[in-house]
Amino acid sequence: MKNDEQKNGEHHAFGIGISPGVAIGPAFIIEQSGLPVPEYDIPSVGIEKELKRLHGAITKVQKHLSQLRQKAETLPAGAEDMTLLLDAYKGMLTGSRLVRGVEDIITKQRINAEAAIQKQIAALKASFAAMNDPYLAARAEDVGEVGTRLIRSLLQQNYNPFADAPEGCIILAEEITPADAALMTPGRVAGFATVLGGAEGHAAIMARALGVPAISGVGTLTHGISTGDLVIIDGRKGEIIARPDATTLQHYRQEVARKKQEDKRLKTLRDVAAITADGTPIMLQANMELPRDIDAALESGARGIGLLRTEFMFMNRPDLPDEDEQYDVLRKLITKLDGLPLTIRTLDIGGEKIASALGEAVGESANPALGLRAIRLGLKNPKLLDTQLAAILRASMHGPVRILVPMISSVAQMKQVRSHLLNVERRLHRRGIKVKGLPPVGAMIEIPSAALIADALSKVCDFFSIGSNDLTQYTLAIDRGDERVADLYDPFHPAVLRLIQFTAAAGWRANIPVSLCGEMAGDRRATLLLMGLGLREFSMSPPRLPGVKHEITQATLPQSVDFAEKVMGKTDEAEIHALLTNGLNKDRTK
Ligand code: PEP
Ligand code: MG
Repeated sequence: MKNDEQKNGEHHAFGIGISPGVAIGPAFIIEQSGLPVPEYDIPSVGIEKELKRLHGAITKVQKHLSQLRQKAETLPAGAEDMTLLLDAYKGMLTGSRLVRGVEDIITKQRINAEAAIQKQIAALKASFAAMNDPYLAARAEDVGEVGTRLIRSLLQQNYNPFADAPEGCIILAEEITPADAALMTPGRVAGFATVLGGAEGHAAIMARALGVPAISGVGTLTHGISTGDLVIIDGRKGEIIARPDATTLQHYRQEVARKKQEDKRLKTLRDVAAITADGTPIMLQANMELPRDIDAALESGARGIGLLRTEFMFMNRPDLPDEDEQYDVLRKLITKLDGLPLTIRTLDIGGEKIASALGEAVGESANPALGLRAIRLGLKNPKLLDTQLAAILRASMHGPVRILVPMISSVAQMKQVRSHLLNVERRLHRRGIKVKGLPPVGAMIEIPSAALIADALSKVCDFFSIGSNDLTQYTLAIDRGDERVADLYDPFHPAVLRLIQFTAAAGWRANIPVSLCGEMAGDRRATLLLMGLGLREFSMSPPRLPGVKHEITQATLPQSVDFAEKVMGKTDEAEIHALLTNGLNKDRTK
């Protein structure tokens, strides 16, 4: 990563571009402090549980501080202060006066952990202040910082970090979790930059879906930038510029205007059919995280929703949505879609996607991406899965629906899901709700084992949807959300491409539809290749749909097959990338 630069009074810092485009606006730094803290009594039998909550939060904050520290180590000189400070913070979380004091307050005063932390911070600050020593005054601030990190971790579900963000601002934060991203009001936040997070994490995916330019991996993010400073985010180059001079500002303003023109031009493709130049129709659908995204999906010209990530309905709330609530949300979406299909993915919580109400069910894991998540969690907590399946079956009476199962790694899992579905249907019947035929049930092909047994899975699936994001993560053993290995994350790695080819071929043989709904689907460089591999359905974030449609209308099937052969003949990633970039934007019908 490049070092920070100072030029003509401008401050430049660098990271990874995770959502393209340029945003210009005042910086808004998300501080750790200033949270409203609830206080409530706990019964004496609840003390053990409250102490467990506290220690759960301590572990999370320690992990977070370690991540930040590792990040700080990769920074240019001058970052030692940061590593020392982070070490000091971590020290305050083991056997310290802060922790011991909080444990004591929880046990003796029988109050919740958040309130106990706040009381202990106040007590420590008062005792440091009484000593009238500037060194200790600084330590008091550090204790406050650590305490608020703990409180934030405990309060996760109720805290909206963007509540006070002014219209059109650029958010600067250590980290934006998928749950945080779900709280961003489109149009309100112009862009964001973070210290932690890779290009394929869910915050990045949501930034692209919202069309919000964003960068991550900027270790020195808040050094030299204050809230209110004018900043520019260049989401393609992965650069943030604070206090730009007039020339820089003019250059980027022109860039914003150019992008607006381009978007306007692409929007004219909205009602154009996605048909190749030689007449093959290609199904283009939209990915959706939140019900509010439905309008953007329809405006993009999507012919339905190819992936509804239902987990976002479970975030930012202390409880779980019951069957009726889930049914209501789905029914409204189906009604809005007015006959266009909705592919509902069952809950894919776990990994980086956290829902507080499911915290205990998911539990801690040394490798959360490999742990109890997605359908594994559903099969171990049948009530969770069955409630969702019941809501989906009831909703399916209002329009075309497909059920998509995430993180399938075996045929047995798929059979189990089908048997759950039959049981749920029977139970609904007993309640007097008759479902007219079960919706198609498909598997996400996003774990290498699933791709490698696609032939066998095709016998128990009505369709496949390839999740190239996780397929890349698990094939290459690269954490998709870790900015430090983001340079190694490559969906065009020949190993990933071969698994996609293998899956598409199995789908053809079994005569079941195969869609691709990972981020690769929205990458225009991939369109010709994926068509050549036999794919005819893509689902992507709405802003990317017109660009992909443009590629489709410019291509013929024989060209796509030739191109795929050329790409699949290569084993060198650089050569593959060169082919993909060169293949773009040519008028292929000539
Ligand atoms: C994928 O893994 O490619 C996918 C579409 O699912 P998610 O990004 O939600 O994990
Ligand atoms: Mg996935």
